[in-house]
Amino acid sequence: MSRFLSARMAALEPYVPGEQPRDRQYVKLNTNESPFPPAPGVIAAVRGAEAERLNLYPDPTCRDLRRALAARFGVGEENVLVSNGSDDILNFAFQAFCGPDKPVAFPAVSYGFYPVLAGLYGLPHTAIPLREDLSIDVTDYIGRGENVVLANPNAPTGLALGVDEIERIAASNPDHLVLVDEAYVDFGAESCVPLTKRYENLLVVQTFSKSRSMAGARLGFAIGSAALIADLEAVKYSTNPYSLDRVALAAGTAALTEESEAYHAANCRTVMENRAYTTEELTKRGFTVVPSLANFVFARLPGTDGAQLYDALRRQGVLVRHFNKPGIRDYLRITIGSKAEMDALLAALDVICNEKGE
Ligand SMILES: *Cc1c(COP(=O)(O)O)cnc(C)c1O
Repeated sequence: MSRFLSARMAALEPYVPGEQPRDRQYVKLNTNESPFPPAPGVIAAVRGAEAERLNLYPDPTCRDLRRALAARFGVGEENVLVSNGSDDILNFAFQAFCGPDKPVAFPAVSYGFYPVLAGLYGLPHTAIPLREDLSIDVTDYIGRGENVVLANPNAPTGLALGVDEIERIAASNPDHLVLVDEAYVDFGAESCVPLTKRYENLLVVQTFSKSRSMAGARLGFAIGSAALIADLEAVKYSTNPYSLDRVALAAGTAALTEESEAYHAANCRTVMENRAYTTEELTKRGFTVVPSLANFVFARLPGTDGAQLYDALRRQGVLVRHFNKPGIRDYLRITIGSKAEMDALLAALDVICNEKGE
């Protein structure tokens, strides 16, 4: 820490992103990226015309992209906010809606960015434990009288709540924000977007990073009541009005054509098939696998230390994610990639288990 850091920031505990290693070629199953390239129309858009216009600022209102999202989700343009990844939008939401008088609650095991943002802004917050089976107990969030932030499906468990359960949470906290982070919703869960028409306090956040194969483009969006979106815009315009560049805007719009969305949906189906295959093969090998509706599985091998298994896989050239946190230390979060990548993971596990048995 330098002597220049403000007192307010002195206790900062930044988020630790998954590794993007450069030392060797890994089978990379650690950051829930898509194994598939972006849609052909997206690649064409990136290679296309916007490069010549980089001397000009992008459209701060992101009109074309917002219009495409509004059409895709059946909402109005005033119900859509876009920015530089959903992380950016989560940041706006914590800034806009949480404060000393507006505490926030989220699951104790969930996306690591929530406690980081709560710490960054010194917000009163409650981390609510999961049940023994790692599921969220909805009753913990009913009538809380606090802001609620949930990932659905949850990360890193992959377990999802039903839309009816989220509705009960939104309906019972009418004076507080209920934010549903749907980063993984396209892999088999049901979206709460339709509920945003009936609940002014419900904000749904999604991303192009996972199901749309565009983690490198940094595109996230929120859908909610015009009032919530206007508040978020105010924060966006107070920090970085041009948070999306011209190339990303063109890529995002191209990702929402019918053709591109059909390509994404087909890729999601493949990931779901590979998830079922991986779950079955891991189970055969003695793993306990949490039933996932995301593009990853959360699994442990009873009697095996999670950190050691992570290290052994890494030595075999397979990168997964391990969280050194109470309650989940023995689990690994394994991104679902291509069939070939999943077979490489299984082969590496077989080598490790054979070595252990010898
Ligand atoms: C990946 C992820 C995000 C971040 O998405 P970006 O749009 O890439 O910033 C947000 N929330 C959850 C739960 C995620 O897993």
